[in-house]
Amino acid sequence: MIYTVNGTITKDEMKATLSHEHFKWENDETYGIQLYFDKKYDDEKIEETLDKLLPVLQKLYDSGCRTIVEASPPIGGQDLKLLKKLSSASKINIIPCTGHNLTKYVYRIHNENFAEQLAEQWIKDFEFGLDTIDGVTIKPGHLKLLLDRGKLSDVDREMLRAAIMTNKKTGLPIHCHILESALAEEVMDLLEKEGADFGKFLWAHTIKDKNDAVIKRALRLGIWLGIDMIKTDAYEYNMNFIKEGIKCGFENRILLSQDYDFFEEVTDNGANHPCAAFFTDFIPYCINSGISSDVLERIISKNPAEFYDF
Ligand SMILES: [Zn+2]
Repeated sequence: MIYTVNGTITKDEMKATLSHEHFKWENDETYGIQLYFDKKYDDEKIEETLDKLLPVLQKLYDSGCRTIVEASPPIGGQDLKLLKKLSSASKINIIPCTGHNLTKYVYRIHNENFAEQLAEQWIKDFEFGLDTIDGVTIKPGHLKLLLDRGKLSDVDREMLRAAIMTNKKTGLPIHCHILESALAEEVMDLLEKEGADFGKFLWAHTIKDKNDAVIKRALRLGIWLGIDMIKTDAYEYNMNFIKEGIKCGFENRILLSQDYDFFEEVTDNGANHPCAAFFTDFIPYCINSGISSDVLERIISKNPAEFYDF
């Protein structure tokens, strides 16, 4: 099953997918956390945001997009009520998440059984749903973590352990933001030690700090690679990596996306926002550069269906 804000869908229904986007990152953490813990929504704010975002989603639908994965965790203001309205109005499937849901400083004073308690909360999110809106119990479709730069911190290590426990209990795929290859190595050490399911672990932003040896290790383990910062100024770099994947036979292990903040892009650029450029520009660019459209089709539809199905 694949879990969306409007219920479950099958792998065949997923179709062309953006596997890592942000609808509206919420800078007001208190509001973000209130949405998650109290399920208290600001309806006026939701309507305003909906007016701005719906045309973006409609443009995406018209360009061929059928599913979008929300990469903002609870602390980043994932707004289920907004996502549900957007999905219903645009017909695009939206996959919500649980995951990073409290300020990491909590760990400084509350570190006993931290991972166990966090896992318990995330497991509950899956078993009982994040919220029930208009009769739909919305379950998370993945678990989003954001690791800080530098060496793996104590709190990030415990959050990862909690995510692994949650995955073992529920099957929830882990979607993990890692910007540095050295950190990815530490994460892989931990995943090995904890006996994690590598086939349900996505290393978001894999080629931000590209290191071939580390990527090879990830592929040996069976970890998914997020090639998810395909912004309009980075087409060649990303296309070359996709070509490399096809040449070396790991094209079935990559997930593509842009990592835009839709709200920010439409606020800054109006109708000239680049949120649909992946479909209108990047895919044609790849085809013109010699990548087969069938292979691309598989990468953008089959791969995410494989990863997000559990
Ligand atoms: Zn992101």
